[in-house]
Amino acid sequence: MIVRLHYRRYSLPFRNPVRTAHGPWTTRDGLLIRLEHEDGRVGFGEAAPITDFGTESIDEAEAACRALGEMIDENKLAGLPSRLGCLRHALMCARDGIEERATTGERTGGLENNPFRAVAALLPAGKAALAQVPPKAEFGFRIFKWKVGVADLADELAILDDVCAVLPSGAKLRLDANGAWDRRKAERWFERCADRPVEFVEQPCFAPAAWGDSAVRRTDDLLLGLAGDYPTKIALDESLVGEGDIERWLAAGWPGVFVVKPSLIGDVPRAMARLAKARADVVFSSALETAVGARNALRVAFDWRGEPRALGFGVWPLFADSRFDGPFAAPALRREDVERIDVAGVWNALS
Ligand code: MG
Repeated sequence: MIVRLHYRRYSLPFRNPVRTAHGPWTTRDGLLIRLEHEDGRVGFGEAAPITDFGTESIDEAEAACRALGEMIDENKLAGLPSRLGCLRHALMCARDGIEERATTGERTGGLENNPFRAVAALLPAGKAALAQVPPKAEFGFRIFKWKVGVADLADELAILDDVCAVLPSGAKLRLDANGAWDRRKAERWFERCADRPVEFVEQPCFAPAAWGDSAVRRTDDLLLGLAGDYPTKIALDESLVGEGDIERWLAAGWPGVFVVKPSLIGDVPRAMARLAKARADVVFSSALETAVGARNALRVAFDWRGEPRALGFGVWPLFADSRFDGPFAAPALRREDVERIDVAGVWNALS
């Protein structure tokens, strides 16, 4: 199949800066891809790299698009280096969009088994979380995600108890430390979490590759040790940079959860097949992409046949310009909400 490649680079301010380990993140940069067959069929994809997660940069992805030229075929697609994982994913999604034959049928084939997915509510870091639990609980949310590791340990542990006290019955809390803890802090937290309604702790500790192999290995061992020593599950997020890491952690027999951001893992079908074969415990998460990439990511989440944990997609409204947002954060998402996302409208909003 030979198709015409169109791409548009975007730089979209968030409504509110996103807090990260590297400081505030104010603007999302990425590429939207549109492939067009000569018979008029079109498909859309999005390359939304996050270099801190080890992906290619947006400049690299754009340069590769320029080098691909106007007309592309399967050979050109297959010839893209694997390091351009986000771009390859975007092009494959766009190609699949063209090839979807009567796919609404195909896409909704599993619907009767899986019409809804719960969505986790995002809470702000620190004490501000407290005031947000009751209204979100009233709205129907039962999984709450709270960022930790941003303030003093003792203060945060005290707030943990306050947050647990206002959770509705049966609700669970997800903690995300974004790798902020050392062993001592992590142990204090896990001791405290053991008899609290904590679903899992995301990335308690982390050593980026730049710290060197031995630091990474030490931290991997620390994570495995914590997973063995405490009852609360641990979810790997920053530790999973693409398919290589998924393989590595499966081989290590990781007993916890895998946070999968479909926009960032490169060859998504292959990675999902590996995780399914290993019967991995997976939670799907947004990479703060636009609705184009989000639709593709959510399709992956709905197609997953493992235990459906609440989706980490309670991020919208996200952008200052709401035309780029996915469905407004609600306690549950339906497959049809995903299929109803107007990807062509998002593409047109960039012109
Ligand atoms: Mg995380």
